[in-house]
Amino acid sequence: MPDRSTIFALSSGRPPAAIAVVRISGPRAGVALEKLIGRLPEPRKAALARVRDPASGEIIDEVLALWFPAPRSETGEDVAELQLHGGHAVIAGVFDALAMIEGCRPAEAGEFTRRAFENGRLDLTAVEGLADLIAAETPAQRRLAFRQLKGLIGDRAEAWRRRLIEALALVEARIDFSDEADVPEDLLGPALYAAQQLRDEIAGVLADGRRGERLRDGLVVAIAGPPNAGKSTLLNRLARREAAIVSPYAGTTRDVIEVHLDLDGYPVTLLDTAGVRDSAEPVEQEGVRRACERAAAADLVLWVIDGSAGGVAADEYPKNLGNTAIWLVRNKIDRVDESPCMGAGKSEISEYEFTLSISALTGNGMEALTAALSDYAKTYFASTESVVITRARHRRALEETVAALDRALARDGANDEELIAEEMRAAATTLGRLTGRVDVEDILDVIFRDFCIGK
Ligand code: GDP
Repeated sequence: MPDRSTIFALSSGRPPAAIAVVRISGPRAGVALEKLIGRLPEPRKAALARVRDPASGEIIDEVLALWFPAPRSETGEDVAELQLHGGHAVIAGVFDALAMIEGCRPAEAGEFTRRAFENGRLDLTAVEGLADLIAAETPAQRRLAFRQLKGLIGDRAEAWRRRLIEALALVEARIDFSDEADVPEDLLGPALYAAQQLRDEIAGVLADGRRGERLRDGLVVAIAGPPNAGKSTLLNRLARREAAIVSPYAGTTRDVIEVHLDLDGYPVTLLDTAGVRDSAEPVEQEGVRRACERAAAADLVLWVIDGSAGGVAADEYPKNLGNTAIWLVRNKIDRVDESPCMGAGKSEISEYEFTLSISALTGNGMEALTAALSDYAKTYFASTESVVITRARHRRALEETVAALDRALARDGANDEELIAEEMRAAATTLGRLTGRVDVEDILDVIFRDFCIGK
C-alpha cells in the first residue's frame, strides 16, 4: 500500500548558504503551497512570492516558488519547490509551517527518488545513476553516471526484455496451438534464433573487463612494501598535489588508509597498506594479512623499498600479490645522491613492469611517477565510452540472463518446448529485475539505503 502522505525536505546543501531549496511532494503539495504563499503559481514558471506563517500571518521570507502538478514532476506526484534564503531560521520557520499542515511530514532519506521509481518516472538503473551522479568525483565518473541516469543500461535492458518476450510468445504459441493446422510449423526456429542473438549481444556487453565498475569505484592503486620504506610519505606527497586530491579520509580501517585522486579526470583510489613484514606478533600479523589482501585485490601495486639501503632483503620481496601489476619504487634516493629515473624491465626479484627511483621526501622523481600513473589510468579507462555495466548488481543480472538463455539454447528444440519457454521466462525475469519492472521489493532497501534526505 503506497504511502500517500505529503513529504517535504531540504534538498540543497547544508545551511547557512545563499539559497536553500525545499521540496514538497504528494497530494497536499498544492494545498501546502497555497497556505504558505497564498496562491498556486502557473505550472513550471518561477514566481516571486512571500512565505507567511499560516498561523500568525508573519512574513518568513521572500522566495521563488515553483509548482509542478502531477504527473509531470520529479516524483510523478504534485510537487512544489521553494527557493528560500538559506539561513537556519528561515528554513526552520518554513519547516514549522509545513509540519502544521495536515498530511504533511518530513521526508525520509531517498523518499523523493523512491516515489519517482514507484510512479515509473525512473527505473532502478536510473535511480542508481542518480546516486552515482551525486557521488561522482571526477569528470569520467560524472559522464558515466549521467549516461546511466539517462537510460544507458536501463533502456537497453528493457529493449532486450521486449525482444525476449516476443521470442517467448512464439514458443508459447507453438505450445498452445501445436494441434491446430493454421499455426506455422516453425515458430521455434525464429524464437531460438532471436534468443541466440540476444545471448550474444548481452555476452558482448559483459565482456568489458569490468571497466565501468572500476570507473565508478576508482582504479585501485595500493602502496605496499616493508616498514619505513616511505610509503606514508609517498602517499602524503601524492595526495598533496593540490589539483589531484578529491577527498582524503584517513584511517578507514586501522590498517589501510585511502585517498581519492583525480588523475587527468580519471578516479584513482590510493591505498596505503600497513608495513608489510613477516611478524610474530598476532595483531601485527592480522594487519599484514589484511594489507596483503587489499594489495592483491588492487589493480596496481607500488612496491616501495628503501633504495638507499643497498640490496633488497629477502623479506622485502612482494608476496602473495597474485597477478596484480607491480611497479618497483626505489625511494630515498636523496640519501645516495642518485638521479630519479624510471624504466621498464624485470628485476631478479619478480616481474616488475616498471621501476622508478624517487625521493618522497624531496619530491624528486614525483612528477614522473604521477605522469606514469595518469598514463596508466588513461590507458585503463580508454575504452569506457562503450561501457554499459557500472555495478555488480547489473553484472549478476546479465550473467543470469545469459545463463538462462544458454540453458534454453542447449535444449532439443522440438521436444523441450515447455522447458525452453521456462528458461526464456527466467531470462526475462532477471532482465526485469535489473530495471525494477518485475518484483524487486527485496533489493529496494539496499538501493535506497545510500540516499540522503531530500533526494
Ligand atoms: P612507511 O612505514 O613505509 O609508511 O614509511 P614512512 O613514510 O613513515 O617513512 C619512514 C621514514 O623514512 C620517515 O622518517 C620518513 O621521513 C623517511 N623517508 C620517507 N621517504 C624518504 C625519502 O625519500 N628520503 C629520506 N631521506 N627519508 C625518507
